[in-house]
Amino acid sequence: MAAGARAVEAAGAGLSGEPAGSITHDTLADGAAALLTIDLAALRHNYRTYCSLAAPASVAGVVKADSYGLGAAKVVPALLAEGCRTFFVAQLSEALALRPLIPATAALYVLNGLQPGSEALAREAGIRPVLNSLPQAIAWAAAAPVKAAALQLDSGMSRFGLSESELAALTGDSVLMGKLNLALIMSHLACADELSHPASRAQLAAFKAMRARLPAGIPASLANSAGVFHGADYHFDLVRPGIGLYGAHPVAGQNNEAAGSPLKPVVRLAARIVQLRTIPAGTAVGYGHTHKAEGPMRLGVIGVGYADGWLRSLSSSGAAWFDGVRLPICGRVSMDSSILDLSALPEGALKPGDFVELIGPQQPLEQVAQEAGTIAYEMLTGLGRRYERRWTGAVS
Ligand SMILES: *Cc1c(COP(=O)(O)O)cnc(C)c1O
Repeated sequence: MAAGARAVEAAGAGLSGEPAGSITHDTLADGAAALLTIDLAALRHNYRTYCSLAAPASVAGVVKADSYGLGAAKVVPALLAEGCRTFFVAQLSEALALRPLIPATAALYVLNGLQPGSEALAREAGIRPVLNSLPQAIAWAAAAPVKAAALQLDSGMSRFGLSESELAALTGDSVLMGKLNLALIMSHLACADELSHPASRAQLAAFKAMRARLPAGIPASLANSAGVFHGADYHFDLVRPGIGLYGAHPVAGQNNEAAGSPLKPVVRLAARIVQLRTIPAGTAVGYGHTHKAEGPMRLGVIGVGYADGWLRSLSSSGAAWFDGVRLPICGRVSMDSSILDLSALPEGALKPGDFVELIGPQQPLEQVAQEAGTIAYEMLTGLGRRYERRWTGAVS
């Protein structure tokens, strides 16, 4: 097999079950500059992994922000096929778009709660708000029939959820309490990605104490993807993973390409070489001339830049990979392209149209995020619209 074919296999086709080298430079639709592969079989594996980690608690799917950029229209059916029956999005508009894909017997919650005045829209669409404040609870209870909702408690993040005093006001109002139809009591951890962070224990204790002031028997939920790894105390009745389903290890410093990770990577990104050039010593490279060649260099240009979510902070710090060789980004990432230093490869190893790996086994998503000075969540949700996207392992 040619070196290029091996790299393409590693970068895109290998995990899809397609034969090695089946992606060639003329098989991307519309001449796309890069191929984003989303492995739904790996996503389903990750869902099942959460089911076994969290059992007997059940596992929701957090599908906000278009399933972290990976395509909710593909992700939701894959999760439904694995038995997922509770979904969370952030905003009502997202819930309205997804409701037709989700059977009426499955619950769809809006994490951010509702904007004042949109209660009727949610109710009529069969969408459940997360009630994050006393005014939101009052607004939801105002119109009969009062449909099911979740109640969020702020156990120590100061973002969404009722404070101690709001909870006291709610529980003290028996008329309001009598109207509400609470299907879930939830809270959210601020520091779950650091397993030894003391804030998680404190939030767990606060959540339990606040929950105890509400009627018994209402299911509870605290853990996100990382929270599940804190152990059974944190699981309650329902866990709410997002990022872990989408293939990033939720615990800081770990990655899913590493041996022993219980979760599998879901995303591969492979970019095509557009142009090659050789420059003599002293030549400046890219915007701002931030790089000057110390000796003769061989460069390769890819058509992926910050407009594609290939962040500008990767300038002179990130890389692409080919055949086990790291190809550093030389100078600044442009809007639509990046320049790679190919000097570590033998001459002729790459030609225009060949693929290099941007995210994959040689360069895990978590590592790219770190080199960009951010987190996998931001890399995924920022992935651009110009890639050719291929979903493999779809439910048929
Ligand atoms: C986004 C979100 C989740 C999922 O978080 P991950 O870290 O991606 O698992 C769970 N709960 C709430 C309230 C969220 O906002």
